[in-house]
Amino acid sequence: MISFEAARAKVIETLSACVCAPEREILDLSAAPAAPLGRILAENIVADRNYPPFNRSIRDGFAVRSTDAAEPGAKLRLIAESRAGVAFNGTVGAGECVRILTGAPVPRGANAIVMHEFTREEDDFVVFEQAARAGQYYVLAGAEARVGEVVVPRGTRLGYAELAMAAEVGRARIEVSRRPRVTVLSTGDELVPLDRAPGPFQIRNSNNISLAAQVSLAGGEPLPAGSAKDEVAELRARIEQGLEADLLLLSGGVSAGKYDLVEQVLKELGAEILFEAVAIRPGKPVVFAWCRGKPVFGLPGNPVSTMVTFELFVVPAIEALSGCLPQPLPIFKAKLAHPVDEKGTVAHFLPARVSWPASESGTEPNVEVLLWEGSGDIGAVVRGNCFLLVHASKLHLQAGEWVDVLPRRGTF
Ligand code: AMP
Ligand code: MG
Repeated sequence: MISFEAARAKVIETLSACVCAPEREILDLSAAPAAPLGRILAENIVADRNYPPFNRSIRDGFAVRSTDAAEPGAKLRLIAESRAGVAFNGTVGAGECVRILTGAPVPRGANAIVMHEFTREEDDFVVFEQAARAGQYYVLAGAEARVGEVVVPRGTRLGYAELAMAAEVGRARIEVSRRPRVTVLSTGDELVPLDRAPGPFQIRNSNNISLAAQVSLAGGEPLPAGSAKDEVAELRARIEQGLEADLLLLSGGVSAGKYDLVEQVLKELGAEILFEAVAIRPGKPVVFAWCRGKPVFGLPGNPVSTMVTFELFVVPAIEALSGCLPQPLPIFKAKLAHPVDEKGTVAHFLPARVSWPASESGTEPNVEVLLWEGSGDIGAVVRGNCFLLVHASKLHLQAGEWVDVLPRRGTF
């Protein structure tokens, strides 16, 4: 059985060719400023001019020639004002200064800004109580970006800072990758949709909901396809239909039981099975296949297994299909609140809660594993905000140890 790291590498390698080939669409920042949020940029955004476009003051004060105010006590004639949007077009000569406000262009001749806190005005003059250093308190034109320079590279996930940058360089219309369409199909004779009352031995189809949400968070467009019965002919038809999307996600029906038919049907459809079990708990029987030119995941049906295997294996696939290089797992270290003892030969992902209690040494992340009833227990994930990763190579962890934590996407 392969490790989860090897399985992730397999997914990334299999989909690597997709990274540079997504379809594109154009979104308009002026019409809908938040629409590109979370989307993957399909072009380079370049600076349309130098930034800042002029030498820009970063303080309120006076623009001077530094040699004129090299010693405290200098007295210079105030000749004009430069403020944001309204520049002084003249030159600062010897013995002169110009009042300047934050964001304003530094006038010709001046090479330092002295903060107004260190000055005093006397009639038409300003007395400088502090010496000026050449170059202080302004940003040189082009220091932030040069005209033509790439300021947001293709493949970047667009956050608020990237959108601000696009706006700064005048790009209202930006080209992004189309979100990959992901069929979400559950399997199981026991499942009923949300709008139906379950019989005594039926359960509601919650995986379609969690998976649709996870697809969205990962940057895909979920296409909920309901659930299929544990029956070969129906499953085959629903899978064939689901393969019309860019990616097919199935849940349930991948264990070794008599009614676990997903892998069998995939094989009948000519799928190449790339892995069918990974050394993790929850989530061991997870299938990754290539079927009729499309990637397919058969995730285990237990809700927590479905969630964990999605995070580990489906996220990088959606990233690749979006034109974004798959990102490493966002694991961070936290201090374990109590000992943990796991058994077996697989890595464990345990529902856990990380918090940042204040302490004398500042705040440090503290993680606590939650009581749970195994992989059907959605409530444990709800009470938590992360998963504690217990590596197969180190199943016994002590209180106070720094351990690996996988945040639950969307909760931080
Ligand atoms: P399976 O992987 O098909 O053996 O399913 C394992 C367990 O997960 C069973 O107890 C199912 O009832 C439950 N399960 C399977 N599919 C879903 C689903 N779509 N929503 C909620 N629970 C499910
Ligand atoms: Mg089932």
